[in-house]
Amino acid sequence: MSLRIAVAQISSESNHFVTGLAGLDFFRTTGYLLEGPELLELGRSDTEVGGFLSILQSEEQVEVVPLVAARANSGNPLSAECYRSLKRLLLEGLRRNRPVHGILLSCHGSMGVQDLDDPEGDLAGALRDIVGPRVPLALTLDLHGNLTRSMVQSADIVVGYHTYPHRDAFQTGQHAARLLLRAAGGQSRPTMALARLPLILTSFNASTEGDGPFARLRREADRMEQTRPQVLSASVFNLGAYIDVPEMGCSSLVITEGDEALAGELARRLALQHWGEREAYRVEPLTVADAVERGRRIQGGPILLLDTADTTGGGAAGDSIALVRKLIELGVEEPCLAMAVDPQAVGDCWHREPGSRFQVELGHRLDPQWGKPLALGAVLRRKSEGRFRYRGGILGGTEVSMGRSLVLQTGNLQLLVTSRPTYEWADEQYRSLGLDPRQAKFVCVKNMMNFRVGYAGIMKAFFVVAVPGPTPADMRMLPFRRIGRPVYPLDAMPETVEPEMTVRRYPGR
Ligand SMILES: [Zn+2]
Repeated sequence: MSLRIAVAQISSESNHFVTGLAGLDFFRTTGYLLEGPELLELGRSDTEVGGFLSILQSEEQVEVVPLVAARANSGNPLSAECYRSLKRLLLEGLRRNRPVHGILLSCHGSMGVQDLDDPEGDLAGALRDIVGPRVPLALTLDLHGNLTRSMVQSADIVVGYHTYPHRDAFQTGQHAARLLLRAAGGQSRPTMALARLPLILTSFNASTEGDGPFARLRREADRMEQTRPQVLSASVFNLGAYIDVPEMGCSSLVITEGDEALAGELARRLALQHWGEREAYRVEPLTVADAVERGRRIQGGPILLLDTADTTGGGAAGDSIALVRKLIELGVEEPCLAMAVDPQAVGDCWHREPGSRFQVELGHRLDPQWGKPLALGAVLRRKSEGRFRYRGGILGGTEVSMGRSLVLQTGNLQLLVTSRPTYEWADEQYRSLGLDPRQAKFVCVKNMMNFRVGYAGIMKAFFVVAVPGPTPADMRMLPFRRIGRPVYPLDAMPETVEPEMTVRRYPGR
């Protein structure tokens, strides 16, 4: 008998501190929205779905049942209508294609929806209601996902990315598909334990490369996977996503072959290590004046000034002009590069000729809550339609557009103004308009992780600067309203805490 395995993806990372809601178009323009068999084209991609398909299609006795694949970049929470449409595509696809013997669903884990606190838990629960307790359901998540009780109570297998910067979406999909096939074929009875902490941490010091606290935690989880045959999977989740919901926190999740006590013990051990090292994730942003001063003491450039609070990869609009305003106020005369998204300013200046000088207002047009536009006298240096190709990262090799774009110059500062936010990997945006970071003393970068790869071998130093925005390197700078309290680092917390445990055995009841 062949196993019919349903495959689906509904994935976006949301930011609850930005203005506005996302619709289905957000998926179509920044990612993809593929219905039914269209999903099979992801078989050639490095995505989780690509990983699912590579395993399923290599088995003769397996039939793939494609439901829907929707993925978008980080950004605004989904409107209620957008979410309902995606959920309908998922559930109607499943109902039409029953019976199935297993389900693979790829999500982020920190998606926000207008009127719902735990959309991934809601999706998993709705799938479970349709197929009943005996059909295994596997969920893949980003390691910045917010694990909830309801996700773990509805799914039988949950697997998170192992790497940040993210390089293993495909392998994560493969891992989940292998575990699911074994459960669906009756050869495995996965037992999961989730250990959740009252802890939120930004991503800045949470690389899985090098020797930071999260790299150490990931290595401990790797050891569990590699040295204990009963351990099917060990995932650690660093909640560095900018959501604001009642049930949230960093967590660990271990799956064993039917051993509930072992799963619980190992998940708890990982959580306690995470908690014990919480101070090591702390970032102390500098004032722009201090960062410039320190940069001047270093020979040459570029020195990166990191506007982490306006990281488009974390859902920010990329439209902040606060750092540029500061550099101008400070009278910085060294060559500088900066960028800001401002479709209105681009539209206002587009008719002008390169070389012309004029007054322009810039910044805070898409998400006005974080600052006021800056009035500036500038010379137009270049214009472009804004297309460029990524040299690496999750979008490596793909061509995208930042819309019509300009280079404006004021003093020794060259400012790239684009019409749309784009994901930051390295310096592709600057280079596409002829701006070379190696020629600058200070380069403003709106990113908190990928710059380490993208500017490796070029940058002389980097400093996080304290400017306002929806993706700060210090969680205490955000106006949380709904998060469960107390939570580190917003509240004073005891030295030790006991993680909240949730367990699930397959098959559930
Ligand atoms: Zn992530």
